[in-house]
Amino acid sequence: MEKKKLEREEESLGLTSQITRRDFLNSSLLGSGTSLLHAGCPVDLLAQAGQSASGMNAIAKEDFSGYGGVGDYAESNGNTLAVLQAAHRVRDGVYQQFPVEAEETGELFDLIIVGGGLTGLMTAHEYAKQSAGSQRCLILENHPVFGGEAKQNEFEVDGYRLVGPQGSNDFNPPEEGSNTQLDQFFRECHLPYKFSFQEWDRGLKPLRFASDNYVNIDGFEERSVDVAYYFDQKSGASKPAWMLNIWNDDLKRTPFSERAKTDLLRWRRETGHTGSEDPRYLDSISYKHYLEVVKGYDPEVTKFSQPMVGLLGGVGCDAISARVGHGLVMQHYGAISFPGGNATMGRHLVRGLIPEAISGEYTFEGVMNGRINFAALDRPDQPTRIRLHSTVIRVEHQHRQGDKDLVAVTYEREGKVYRSRARAVVMASGGWITKRIVADLPEEIHTAYREFQYAPALIANVALNNWRFLYNLGAPAVRWMDDGTMFGYCANIRRDMVIGDYRPPLNPDKPTLLTFYMGLYAPGHTAFEQGVLGRMRLLSTSYVEYERTIRRQMTEMFAGTGFDAKRDIAGIVLNRWGHARLTQPPGFYYGVDGRPSPREVVAKGFGRIVIAHSELNGAQNYGGAFQHGKRAAEEILAMK
Ligand SMILES: Cc1cc2nc3c(=O)[nH]c(=O)nc-3n(C[C@H](O)[C@H](O)[C@H](O)COP(=O)(O)OP(=O)(O)OC[C@H]3O[C@@H](n4cnc5c(N)ncnc54)[C@H](O)[C@@H]3O)c2cc1C
Repeated sequence: MEKKKLEREEESLGLTSQITRRDFLNSSLLGSGTSLLHAGCPVDLLAQAGQSASGMNAIAKEDFSGYGGVGDYAESNGNTLAVLQAAHRVRDGVYQQFPVEAEETGELFDLIIVGGGLTGLMTAHEYAKQSAGSQRCLILENHPVFGGEAKQNEFEVDGYRLVGPQGSNDFNPPEEGSNTQLDQFFRECHLPYKFSFQEWDRGLKPLRFASDNYVNIDGFEERSVDVAYYFDQKSGASKPAWMLNIWNDDLKRTPFSERAKTDLLRWRRETGHTGSEDPRYLDSISYKHYLEVVKGYDPEVTKFSQPMVGLLGGVGCDAISARVGHGLVMQHYGAISFPGGNATMGRHLVRGLIPEAISGEYTFEGVMNGRINFAALDRPDQPTRIRLHSTVIRVEHQHRQGDKDLVAVTYEREGKVYRSRARAVVMASGGWITKRIVADLPEEIHTAYREFQYAPALIANVALNNWRFLYNLGAPAVRWMDDGTMFGYCANIRRDMVIGDYRPPLNPDKPTLLTFYMGLYAPGHTAFEQGVLGRMRLLSTSYVEYERTIRRQMTEMFAGTGFDAKRDIAGIVLNRWGHARLTQPPGFYYGVDGRPSPREVVAKGFGRIVIAHSELNGAQNYGGAFQHGKRAAEEILAMK
């Protein structure tokens, strides 16, 4: 686009004005503005930054991470540039020489946990609980805040605090007294079993909201949510049009062909009901093969389900097993989310481990509305410590004279390299990095890890001053037919929880968050290639490019119902997750050619190192994180 035209467009989209309104006072980064507009792409800047001794480049950080919101998580939205740079140094073999020059901390812990996500935090919780706090434990986490993929974004717009998820989003509340692990966690970590949600003004037209950001994204939850669907010329419409709740009248208004309509309806009826189909058989074929060959559906069914599969499974229908694909597009009944998604779980775990870690009482309200006291996380006199900004670069058993078996853990923190030791280590960091940093990993586990492939995801929280344009549409959730060129395929406004002083409004003329969940898949390639291509796209697109795309797309879709990007957008935070999804290609669950499933091989661990991460259950979720966190703690405590 010629320069003048581009400038005019940027002006009208609000790209040249400061995205941070007067309420974003305590942010150090601006969410937009001319400083970002003409910066190079992050990959170039990453490369430059990688050559500098400090490893940091201020412009690159701004261009990559962009505006991070306010509050505890303002410097930790998604994978941060500093974390990526450190991880890429590991990947590129910078630390392969041993011994790595490191400053000895002289610390000896009973347990070091690598990774402060939900798995690592649950490991620490169970370890402290089952040893009655008698053991010394250190969690090393590479991001500026604990929680892993379960973190939150915070905004302040017109005096309202708005909290949204960065990644890990919904959960199914446990039944009180059921004694499941989730029930125990709720009881032990002071979470309630009943929740209050925003009230919808009865004077306004009725709207049905989701209580999370997922219920609407499978595209067929019109039973409980109003979803508006956007069809443009690319998706077969004669002119762009919105259609509300398309399944209610059996797709009659949609531009799909008659055959596609029939097959989409069949698919919707049959999805999740695999009947007598052998899960092992489903594990051995792709979902696309299942849809188009086994079921004989029109390819439009594959196309329709692709964005959901791409988001939840990381790859297109052609590279995911039918067993997984089926499950992903099933309806999500009864799931809800905390304001910041499962960040709340991590906060409660940390508050229990380190009482001063979060200001306020150990109640739902206290943990939600308190602030993280970063100085309290790593004090020498407490049984559990959390050391942030610390990328572990090497883990290895050592057999020093006079020592019982110990594990040496070397990590990089703010440009310096340190080494601490522990009697045992839990790797709660994820296979993509575990296989590179555990120096004495047995060949069998190395080989199994080759079958763990990952894909990225991108979550954008768009803070709005008002959302009348959606109210005019008649839906708080929207879906469009992504053909691979659009930003995401769905977005929604939740009916949020209200917790003590956290009382965001639910009114079309008041601020809210519109949350976009998107995968970056590339059909036509292997699962591995799709992951790599997706990550390249994710990492080579600057903040401002994404911002422009979001503003353009929202203008294209919503201008007709009153949206004005410059007026209505108060802030955009992007959360880039490089290894969001384990892609689970055919064979992942039950193995192939008589070989055991790779996840069983990895879960065995070795020596004094236990491997635990939610991915060992396949698709990552809080359930897998908790299960493997507990298993890891028990295995460590059982070690002699
Ligand atoms: C976009 C998205 C949406 C999701 N939605 C849901 C949902 O709705 N419900 C649900 O249950 N789950 C969801 N999940 C899955 C989520 O991964 C799990 O819920 C859970 O948070 C995983 O916890 P974990 O500890 O196993 O892994 P992670 O969250 O990945 O934690 C691992 C931690 O280890 C750190 N680490 C890695 N390498 C190193 C190193 N070398 N040194 C130090 N630290 C290191 C990582 O940075 C990270 O903080 C979602 C995930 C994403 C990305």
